[in-house]
Amino acid sequence: MRLKTRLASTVIKAAILGVIAALLAFALAMDRSAPEPLRIAVTQRADAGVEVAFDLPRSVRALSFEALPGDYRGRQWRLAGDDFVVTQNGDSDAIVRRDGDGFNRVVIVAAPHDERLEKNYQPVAPYGDGGVLFYTGHFTPRDGQGRRVDAAFSFRPAPGANVVSFGAHADALDDWRSPTGQSAFIYMGPLAPAETPSVIAVIDPDAPEWVRDEFDALTPLVFARLSQAFGAALEVKPTVFLAAPLGEDEGRLRYAGDATQGQFQITLEGRAWTEPSDKARGIFRRATIHEAVHLWQAPARPKGEATPDWIHEGAADAIAAETLVALGLWDEAAFAADLAAARAECAQRLRAGTLKSAKARGDVRAAYACGHVIAEAVSRAEGAPASDFWRAFIARAADEGGYDEATFYDLVAERSGDQGFVRALRRFVSTPAADGGREIDRLLAAAGAPRKRPLLAPAPLARDQGR
Ligand SMILES: [Zn+2]
Repeated sequence: MRLKTRLASTVIKAAILGVIAALLAFALAMDRSAPEPLRIAVTQRADAGVEVAFDLPRSVRALSFEALPGDYRGRQWRLAGDDFVVTQNGDSDAIVRRDGDGFNRVVIVAAPHDERLEKNYQPVAPYGDGGVLFYTGHFTPRDGQGRRVDAAFSFRPAPGANVVSFGAHADALDDWRSPTGQSAFIYMGPLAPAETPSVIAVIDPDAPEWVRDEFDALTPLVFARLSQAFGAALEVKPTVFLAAPLGEDEGRLRYAGDATQGQFQITLEGRAWTEPSDKARGIFRRATIHEAVHLWQAPARPKGEATPDWIHEGAADAIAAETLVALGLWDEAAFAADLAAARAECAQRLRAGTLKSAKARGDVRAAYACGHVIAEAVSRAEGAPASDFWRAFIARAADEGGYDEATFYDLVAERSGDQGFVRALRRFVSTPAADGGREIDRLLAAAGAPRKRPLLAPAPLARDQGR
């Protein structure tokens, strides 16, 4: 009885302590739920550089950012005054004072330049006529848990210039936050956006005229086709930025693209873009559709850094190929040649190690080539287009609050009903192979026969085969 009473009083004390703890946690949460945001003021200078001023709600000893490779910030950012320095430690870069003191304001100057960060967004990319494309993600600090902090941006373009992002098009923007909740591209410069029913486009005046024509003709067809293939139109009308710092290299024909939620960015380099060759047109179409596919994939978020890129990059290549066939821009031979190129490149990449370890050994291309082979294998195993799988995958990722590699295998198993194929798939991704080409053949053999693709009516822009 006494024991029971003591127990009861202990339980009551614990309950009271629990209530106090809960109240404290609630008070702390309330405190945290409405903190002052970090204010970041971005001013475009006459020399097209941008000045980025951080005003912090309270003093800190370090402003920490997701790391960029090769001491990029240390080399490319100038910190106003001599008091500050960029340090690198592992997975983060930080701005600190040289004397180690706290601070609540720091100003950096970042100039647009042509150095590209591999597999990453360009912080400040040059556009024709003194414009710049600014990526907010590389300028948004992280908190102690590695999450980007709540930041409100203001943008002040150079005199006579304007600022464009999503539907916003203004002389200046204040208290701006990305409408998608994700980091975003912002254009500052003299160009006005061109809005069509499917897209808002900011196109560099340095881009060759045929590229602009191709873009205008291609995007409505592609967007309509992808809406059909994914069973949904995009929620936000996307903004596309196209820069063309072609440079002097006659033989160069480089297309670099970056997609983020609701936006993508294209950079064309090399003088070979000047003339509308079949090769240039083919690269432009395929790569632009690849980036457009990312807009539909974007609602499915990877659960973390460990989620492999081959899942979405390979699918974007495979769905781009399906789209080119569906639009009548490719025939079966072009589709087969594209897949053969992916097989050959994947086989060659696998000589250095597994697909799973490719990123760690600095190979970013394996995710595309081998991912494409995997997407094709899944399509064969299911007897359905790669876009069908992704339609279901996006829904699954939404249910699970993101996706990882296991989400992928589980859905393949569910949809194909073929455990043997899933085992072959897992082995293909993580088992070292003496002969990559043979492993690809085995994977495709486990998937079954190639799917018949219905050829739809040729698109009006089918002027050539554009391989
Ligand atoms: Zn991509």
